[in-house]
Amino acid sequence: NAQGFDNARHEKIFVSVRLRPLNEKEIQSNDFADWESINSTTILFKNGLGERSMNPNAYNFDRVFGHNDSTRKVYEEAAREIALSVLNGINSSVFAYGQTSSGKTFTMNGITHYAVADIYDYIEQQKEREFVLKFSAIEIYNELVRDLLSTDTNPLRLLDDPERGTVVEKLTEETLQDKSHLLELIAVCEAQRQTGETSLNEASSRSHQILRLTIESSARRFGGGNSSILAANVNFVDLAGSERTSQTLATGARLKEGSHINRSLLTLGKVIRTLSKGKNGHIPYRDSKLTRILQNSLGGNARTAIICTMSPAHSHLEQSRNTLLFASCAK
Ligand code: ADP
Ligand code: MG
Repeated sequence: NAQGFDNARHEKIFVSVRLRPLNEKEIQSNDFADWESINSTTILFKNGLGERSMNPNAYNFDRVFGHNDSTRKVYEEAAREIALSVLNGINSSVFAYGQTSSGKTFTMNGITHYAVADIYDYIEQQKEREFVLKFSAIEIYNELVRDLLSTDTNPLRLLDDPERGTVVEKLTEETLQDKSHLLELIAVCEAQRQTGETSLNEASSRSHQILRLTIESSARRFGGGNSSILAANVNFVDLAGSERTSQTLATGARLKEGSHINRSLLTLGKVIRTLSKGKNGHIPYRDSKLTRILQNSLGGNARTAIICTMSPAHSHLEQSRNTLLFASCAK
């Protein structure tokens, strides 16, 4: 039926790839770019020679961004529509996936700010509806969930709520006064993570950050009466560095208990691959904290964008190949 067809279409995940420029360190060490975006959907491998070879390999995605493309462009063409579907009551998630130093945080911070600006522009123009916005933020490290809006560093438990699905127990949920209030809270989260980064570099590259904005709206009614309420959330997810899981993804090896492998990242990969095949099979949401928390915003009627960030440098060739493998499986 038409409804079923529409749902199937929405299950498709929008997959883009973003190449960052070579950085100072890479240039100083005479590293060179293996990869180039040759049009808006194609990335080209230059055969490790730093120049176009006779047998280049081209890979296609929904969108490909080159080293000159701005974060605004990435937002507008690969995330905006999906993130803003929250305004129509549709859950959504935007992910940044890639190895450490490939540009995940750079990309996701920018996207989050552009989305916040668009969301507030929209609701300020909507005189017919009344909006309530809430914000929460978590970090998942070693399968432990921490509240980024609280000074309490104790891990939080996940509970199964019959109506709301998986909820994080005792998680701070701030009701937002206005846009500047939200921007302040986002800045707190960014600072929290940066502190972690200087003291514990390992930890920050191995942790996932989820910023969640919940939007409820109802029609303004004069003289009372029921009005339908729309409620949904949008998640901005800055994933852990993919370097440790990529090997396992490539070989299809089983996840070992207690190993150094990031369970949440690996499970996310499995969930996304299952969803992108569009089959009705079992989706292993419950196998990790990240996928449990995001279950209602991933698959089903929810909309998903994944931005795979890549260094063009030859020294990162193996990791870049793994990132493209992940991206291809998500398509
Ligand atoms: P990750 O979060 O994947 O570890 P970062 O986002 O911290 O990586 O990026 C690593 C460094 O590269 C940062 O200094 C960042 O500012 C820079 N960078 C990343 N992407 C870009 C880009 N597209 N253009 C310019 N600089 C970038
Ligand atoms: Mg980062």
